[in-house]
Amino acid sequence: MGKPCRVFYVRTFVGDFPSNLSVYVDEYGFIVKVASGIELSSNCEVVDLTGSGLLTLPGFIDLHVHLRDFNLQYKETIGSGTLAAVSGGYVLVGDMPNTNPYIDSVELLLRRVELARRDSYVDYSIYCGIPKNTKLVEELLRNQHLFIGFKLYPEDLRGKAEVISYILQNYDGLFVVHAELPEYALRGSIRELSLRYLDRPSWNELSVAELLRSMGGRARLHITHSVHPSTPIKCKSLGITVDTAPYYFMLSSEDVKDCWSKINPPINDLISKSLIFKNVIAGLYDAVVSDHAPHTYDEKVSDWRLCPAGFAAIEVTSRIILTLFTKGFISHHILIKYLCEGPARVLGVQDVFGRIGVGCRASFTVVDLNREGIARVRFSKAPKSGLDGFKYRGEVVRTVVGGEVVYDSGEVLTRPEVRVFGRRTSS
Ligand SMILES: [Zn+2]
Repeated sequence: MGKPCRVFYVRTFVGDFPSNLSVYVDEYGFIVKVASGIELSSNCEVVDLTGSGLLTLPGFIDLHVHLRDFNLQYKETIGSGTLAAVSGGYVLVGDMPNTNPYIDSVELLLRRVELARRDSYVDYSIYCGIPKNTKLVEELLRNQHLFIGFKLYPEDLRGKAEVISYILQNYDGLFVVHAELPEYALRGSIRELSLRYLDRPSWNELSVAELLRSMGGRARLHITHSVHPSTPIKCKSLGITVDTAPYYFMLSSEDVKDCWSKINPPINDLISKSLIFKNVIAGLYDAVVSDHAPHTYDEKVSDWRLCPAGFAAIEVTSRIILTLFTKGFISHHILIKYLCEGPARVLGVQDVFGRIGVGCRASFTVVDLNREGIARVRFSKAPKSGLDGFKYRGEVVRTVVGGEVVYDSGEVLTRPEVRVFGRRTSS
């Protein structure tokens, strides 16, 4: 059943200045025509996204989230996690494979994709974990439409070197790296909670980047949630893309007082926080991610040595980046780089995401640049985040996914027909 043709009136950046555009959308949720100004149309249903102080941006993308589900539904589901995502203006998420069961096979990818098609409120991509043997890799390489890339965890560097090498040699897609050495990442903390960064030093990141680059191959390496200030510059010279997450430039070890701020890699010292912030405003990263990692209240109030790392951040991350823009720290070019174009390029979906153009998914994020608010968790199952209380300026007021207004002024209106994006293909 096709929807009628729709035209969206948007006010968006064209070059350096906001302009009005008429964006025509087909029944499949893709843009078929973009015209300057407001074109009156008698044939199409009109959705007017313009208004005082409102700006429409290409839909936001978060390339690093943990939506849990499967046997971890008590923490989060694809449904609840993508409700949180759409309320933050996100239209596409990259979901990590460290679920229970762990996703490292075609069979589990198929199960996950089916679940996402059924429950997700935004377009969806899943990463595949590093499998146990090269035979499984071969089967995965024949089914690249099911996943957006591989994800490497520190423990994979211990015992799966042969499989990693095989992937790097035989796969020329995205290879996302949690860049810590296992000898540091897998040992218990020997100091107090706020000093975990000394047990898991951030220079690990540079070592892992160089180690993987030295293994050669064709895969596109990407370091995620970077916590060392030198990483973006070093990685640029190595041809590796890099993202970071807001808590690494919003918090320092002095702010880590309980498990709500326990994350991996650990939050770094004050000097690193300041330098990462400088990197962010200089536009050195390819994307900013939430690393949305929800846990329950009981899990987070247990002993800090045992409590799980990570917190629910997808509802605050885009609002922090919007605040950097409204307060003049970053230009609209950097805003769009971090939340739209950059993650689209890293994921290899820049032909359909990251801009408002013909052939792209009709997915937009409408922001009110004057509206202020206080960050808190509303849609995630997690009770709170380590960045709750942040006073932001720049509110997500509407989110359009594939030509449907899904989120409007604090309410979720509908669940759209979502698409699952694997490597260079859609389904
Ligand atoms: Zn993560």
